[in-house]
Amino acid sequence: MWCLAVAIGMLPGVVHRTARIGLRTTPAQRRRCFGLLVSAGDVWSCVLDLARWRRQDGLPPLAGYQELCCELAKAGPGTFGELDTRGARSVLRRYSDAWFATAKRRRDSDATARYPRRKRRLMPVRYYHGTFTLDERRLRLPVARGCPPLWVRLDRDPPYPADQIRSITLLNEGGRLSVEVTAEVPVTTHPHGRGPDPARVAGIDPGIIHPFAVAGPDAQGLLVSGRAIRAETHLHLQDTRRRARKAASRAPKPGQAGSRRWRQHRRRQRQAEAKHRRRVKQAQHEAARTVIDWCLQHRIGTLKIGAPRGVLRLKAGRRHNKRIRDWRIGHLIGCLHDKAEQAGITAVLVDERGTSSTCPACHRLAPKPRGRAFHCPRCGFTGHRDLVGGANIAPRTTEGGPIPTDERQHVAFPVEITHRRAGPHLPGVSSTRRDPRRRPHHGGPRGSPGRPRPAPPQTGTSLANRPPAEREDQPTPPHANRGKR
Ligand SMILES: [Zn+2]
Repeated sequence: MWCLAVAIGMLPGVVHRTARIGLRTTPAQRRRCFGLLVSAGDVWSCVLDLARWRRQDGLPPLAGYQELCCELAKAGPGTFGELDTRGARSVLRRYSDAWFATAKRRRDSDATARYPRRKRRLMPVRYYHGTFTLDERRLRLPVARGCPPLWVRLDRDPPYPADQIRSITLLNEGGRLSVEVTAEVPVTTHPHGRGPDPARVAGIDPGIIHPFAVAGPDAQGLLVSGRAIRAETHLHLQDTRRRARKAASRAPKPGQAGSRRWRQHRRRQRQAEAKHRRRVKQAQHEAARTVIDWCLQHRIGTLKIGAPRGVLRLKAGRRHNKRIRDWRIGHLIGCLHDKAEQAGITAVLVDERGTSSTCPACHRLAPKPRGRAFHCPRCGFTGHRDLVGGANIAPRTTEGGPIPTDERQHVAFPVEITHRRAGPHLPGVSSTRRDPRRRPHHGGPRGSPGRPRPAPPQTGTSLANRPPAEREDQPTPPHANRGKR
């Protein structure tokens, strides 16, 4: 009996991880892949239409996966082009999940939850284990019976062993075809006495200037700078504006079909959007990876992440609203949470209200700092603003409530601070590689640093190899210091 218990106790947990991989296709393969996505969009539209008809006839809604599958079977083969039953069922699964998630939120008296209602031309298709074939970089997607087999090529090796891969999702983003590979990955096991210790707690204050400010035990701290991400967002907005201004005169009048040049403009805009999203997400993933590596190095077993839920709903004017939207806090916290889970670190969300305005030394309220430096007028404490947040988040419980004033529960305010950057690969991050979206400076081509050069090659994890002495806390101009960063 005990050996069974030991065996269960020793079973490592598993987590699901997803990687997105681009596809290399011939024009014919590309056409067929888009055909699958369009057919999936048709399935989605059919389900929405069905729901509408039933609502109009006063019939109860049809949302169970099994019932929807019965309806699909009635449609018969060949209704949805090359899309096979398993692909079509994945769309039904998506609808069913979305419907029940909304129903649950509405039961919990959330009146803003809406049932799926928007038709889409393209819908992602998911294929589960056993329906596709993955042979190194070659992937065979299942198609309807009678159609020739559809093989496509991945543009990199999947980062998981083949036997761990559970599903593959075909999707389109800004005209680029890619697949999301989801795998069941075991939680990292650490040698005894060297793994993360749950008693060692670190508080994390997510922000815009610093995506993660970590206050750990032993007066250790980590600051990840997100200025490159913010620059990327800023340039993308400028670029979008410039493009929109140029194309505005070509916009079709109401009732007109768009011209070819207008459609080209729209396509380019979608591509730029997708590229921007990819860049920001990649940088956020790297920032989270830096935090987790640092935590493992310091044997931190519990991460308390400040959840800024209240900030998101505040209306703070168009500029600040845009800043908050561009922050992508859901993704930021999500990737940190996932990476912590896989590393065997417990991550919990705590209410961060008041943590950035309480002095970590005397636990009294202090005025909101204008810049990066926090100063307590009562006891004279001075420290980095975001680390103050982190140090106050660490002793908090999940339920929120006042910050405990007990000295023993607090992590010591970080004295030794490690500085890292998020998005070191982003264009314009170093002086030798200017972002091509920036206008040449000094007025003309004479002052231009020339054509954009590729980023320096990266070795290993992109952020870890930098010398820790890189300080980047330049004083910010006073106009840039408003609001939550
Ligand atoms: Zn104080």
